[in-house]
Amino acid sequence: MTKSDALKIIDKVRREGRSTLTEYESKKVLASYDFPVTKEKLARDEEEAIKFAEEIGYPMVLKIISPEIPHKSDVGGVKVDIKSPDELRKSYAELMAIKERIRDAEIHGILVQEMAPKGNEVIMGITHDPQFGPVLMFGLGGVFVEVLKDTSFRIPPLTRCDAEGMIKEIKAYPILEGARGGVASDLNSLIDCVLKLSDLGMDLGDFIDEMDVNPLFATGDSALAVDSLIVLR
Ligand code: ADP
Ligand code: MG
Repeated sequence: MTKSDALKIIDKVRREGRSTLTEYESKKVLASYDFPVTKEKLARDEEEAIKFAEEIGYPMVLKIISPEIPHKSDVGGVKVDIKSPDELRKSYAELMAIKERIRDAEIHGILVQEMAPKGNEVIMGITHDPQFGPVLMFGLGGVFVEVLKDTSFRIPPLTRCDAEGMIKEIKAYPILEGARGGVASDLNSLIDCVLKLSDLGMDLGDFIDEMDVNPLFATGDSALAVDSLIVLR
């Protein structure tokens, strides 16, 4: 994947008359900027899902992939910690049942994904400001962003020092340092991710209305995008 692949994906989505990229498409855009994403493959049927799960390894995750379902867990579309082919078949059937409930959703397939190692869940993204253009956002996942609005913002391009400042600025930063016996997240991996997003924002910002990586799992030695959503302008 190279940067030009990102534009190809965006073009294809536009030609299909869509503005919302699926998780699968959004992660391909991220991967074309070398942003670390979960290993994953899009399965078209159950047998393919079983085959991909063998390749990726258990425990694994299944997700429903449809442009009409941007928030997958709202409809029961995310199954984590699947430990065997038997469990996979059961979860696969449950995901296919969503198709009956949401009839006008076009289903691209079922995403077979590696289970990310546990870490702090952070959020990073890009929004479009009418005055400033693309703006980068960073915060800690869950209540910290949703309830406490504990986020930091910067206008790209960012230096390494800017990215570090952006991460350390949130009030919840001590949690990322492992306060109260939690996992300490690797700061350099997080800085690398913010810089890749800055790069992406500089190149593609004009096409993007909003983009988020939610969540990114930040462990002691890595960072991994577990979910992403891009909405085009
Ligand atoms: P949604 O579209 O609802 O945001 P997500 O893909 O973000 O769906 O999945 C919901 C939650 O499930 C995530 O916030 C994360 O906690 C967990 N999860 C999703 N994918 C994985 C994964 N590959 N490994 C571990 N946990 C995951
Ligand atoms: Mg999500």
